[in-house]
Amino acid sequence: MFWTGELIARSAPVRRRATPIPERSPRLDRAVAAYLGLAIGDALGATVEFLTPNEIRQQIGIHADLTGGGWLRLKAGQVTDDTTMALALGESIIAAGRVDAKAAAEAFDAWMRAKPVDIGNTVRRNLITFRRTGNPEAAASEHDAGNGAAMRVLPVALKCYGQPEKTTKIANRAQAHVTHHNALSDAASEALVLMVQDLIAGRDVAAVERERAGGLVAEYPVFAYDRKRRDNPSGFVVDTMQAVLQAFFATDNFEDCLIDVVNRGGDADTTGAIAGMLAGARYGYQAIPRRWLATLDQAVRLRCEQQAIALFPLLQNSTDTAPLSA
Ligand code: MN
Ligand code: MN
Repeated sequence: MFWTGELIARSAPVRRRATPIPERSPRLDRAVAAYLGLAIGDALGATVEFLTPNEIRQQIGIHADLTGGGWLRLKAGQVTDDTTMALALGESIIAAGRVDAKAAAEAFDAWMRAKPVDIGNTVRRNLITFRRTGNPEAAASEHDAGNGAAMRVLPVALKCYGQPEKTTKIANRAQAHVTHHNALSDAASEALVLMVQDLIAGRDVAAVERERAGGLVAEYPVFAYDRKRRDNPSGFVVDTMQAVLQAFFATDNFEDCLIDVVNRGGDADTTGAIAGMLAGARYGYQAIPRRWLATLDQAVRLRCEQQAIALFPLLQNSTDTAPLSA
C-alpha cells in the first residue's frame, strides 16, 4: 500500500550535490584563483587587444564583461595563447613530475600543431627552430624581449612553491628559454614568478612591491612604472610590465585591477592575463566576480582549477593553514 506522500517524494527531483569540494587551504585557494585570474584576464582583454584606450571608449565605453569578439572573433569567455600555453606547460610539468625544458618544448610544439587561435612571432620562430634542432633552449637574442615567456610563468610558480628562490628561477628559465632567451624577459618573468608565490603565501603586498617590483626596477631601471601612465602597452615585456604593475598596485580589488589594465588596450589579453594571475593570487577565489566565472569557457575553467590543485604541493607542515599575515 502506497502512502501518497512517499510517491510524491520518490518522483520529486533529486537534488544531487556536486562532488563536494574539499576544504581548500587559503594558499591553495589563492593558487586556484591565480589560474582562474589568468584565464579571465586573457578572455576579458582579448576583446580589446590592439585597440587604443580611445577606441575602447568610443566603441564600448568601459570594457568590463567577457563578451568575446575582438580581432580574433572569439566566443564570450574564450581564452587565447596566454592561457593555453600555460596549460600546455602545466601538463608537461605534471607528466614529467618536474619542470623540464625538453618536455616543455615538446608540449609547446604540440600546442602549435593544434593551431591555436593566436601565437606570438617569437614563439613561432623559436618553436620552428626547436623542431629542426631538437634543442629546447633558443639562442640568446636581444630582440626576443616580448612578453611570451612572462605570460606563462604560473605553472612554474605553483610547482616550485615553497622551494628556494633559486630553484624557482632555474625552473622558470628552462621554460622561458624555449622561446624567449633574453635578459629583460628573464628579469620580468622572475619578478612575476616570485611575486605570485609571495602573494599566494599571503605576504604583505607593500613588501612584495618593494622587494619584487622594486628589485626589478633597481636591476633594470627601464621597468620603472612610477612615471607616465602606460597606455596602449605593446608586446614588449617592459611595456607589459609597466601597465600590469601600475594597474595592480593602484587598485585594491580583483575586478578593478582587471578593468584598469585591459582598458589600457594594446596587448590587453596578455596584460589582462598577467594582472589577473597576480590579482587572483592576492585576493583569492571569493573576490572573482561571479559573472566572469560563469562566462569563462567552462572546460578551460575546469582545467585551470584541476591543474592548480595538481601542481600545488601538498605541504606537510601546518603552515599551509596558518592565518594570513604579513
Ligand atoms: Mn593571446
Ligand atoms: Mn596578446
